Amino acid sequence: MAAPKGPEMSATSDLAAAIDAIADRMASTTDRGRPADYIPELAKVDPNQFGIAVILADGKVICAGDADTPFSIQSISKVFTLSLALGKVGDYLWSRVGQEPSGDPFNSIVQLEADQGVPRNPLINAGAIVVTDVLLEGCEPRETIGGILRFLRGVAEDDAITVDPDVACSEQETGYRNAAMANFMKASGNLVHAPEKTLGVYFHQCAVAMTCRQLAMAGRFLAFDGRLCPDGARIIPASRARRLGALMLTCGHYDGSGAFAYRVGLPGKSGVGGGILAVAPGVASIAVWSPGLNTIGNSKLGTEALHDLTEATGWSIFGA
Ligand code: GLN
Repeated sequence: MAAPKGPEMSATSDLAAAIDAIADRMASTTDRGRPADYIPELAKVDPNQFGIAVILADGKVICAGDADTPFSIQSISKVFTLSLALGKVGDYLWSRVGQEPSGDPFNSIVQLEADQGVPRNPLINAGAIVVTDVLLEGCEPRETIGGILRFLRGVAEDDAITVDPDVACSEQETGYRNAAMANFMKASGNLVHAPEKTLGVYFHQCAVAMTCRQLAMAGRFLAFDGRLCPDGARIIPASRARRLGALMLTCGHYDGSGAFAYRVGLPGKSGVGGGILAVAPGVASIAVWSPGLNTIGNSKLGTEALHDLTEATGWSIFGA
């Protein structure tokens, strides 16, 4: 008889066994991709690590591997800042950033120029820099970073989450491409603040360090219609959670979003620290981490683990 799939599986210990098997498989894989090296601090991370954390609707947490090792969340922060910016300014945001998949690398300067300084979507770098610029309005950089951290700590229910200052510094010193894009957007009239001010906040949000367990906790509101669990505290309206999921599915893996949707079938957001946050709507919030990246800049083993997980569980949003 076939193993149970779908929500029934979450009620069984089969899920924990499946997750353990995935972690074992990832531990013994030799072709692990390469950690990002354009941010020198990230190049120092040991690629032989893999963690996974899954949080179910009933609050059950299932972890395996290095699920309690903090890593740099990098671009995964973009989903949380987008969520905050939509709460702050609503649909006004869409006059400054698009909603279409980019089909180009996350740091494409060519595309930004072709789009006349209006980034294709809020999950590529240029778009996320505009989102951060929106969060800065009426606040000092320190307060803005504090607000982002407060939000992350609140949704993760964990006050230990902080910014890694070495990673923030490392990116501040070498982030010339982001500086180029921020300056271009300023010249195009799509950045309110001085480029270095907005970038300072952006680099700090990317340098937040979290574990898979903390990240999966923080992703619950995206998995459960804007609430921490199906009958828990509301963080954002259900309609916003649905729209964030749509953007994660179509744009969350940059020019690898189509392949990720094809292979995994879940809304997800990757970061060059090697983390991926994925949500199975109504069923689970999932975080995976392995520092080695594929050529597009998404975690190689993280993607493979999520593929194996949806194969084992039938959790793809397109059906089992
Ligand atoms: N901080 C990184 C950058 O701006 C984030 C990129 C990513 O995670 N894809 O380049």
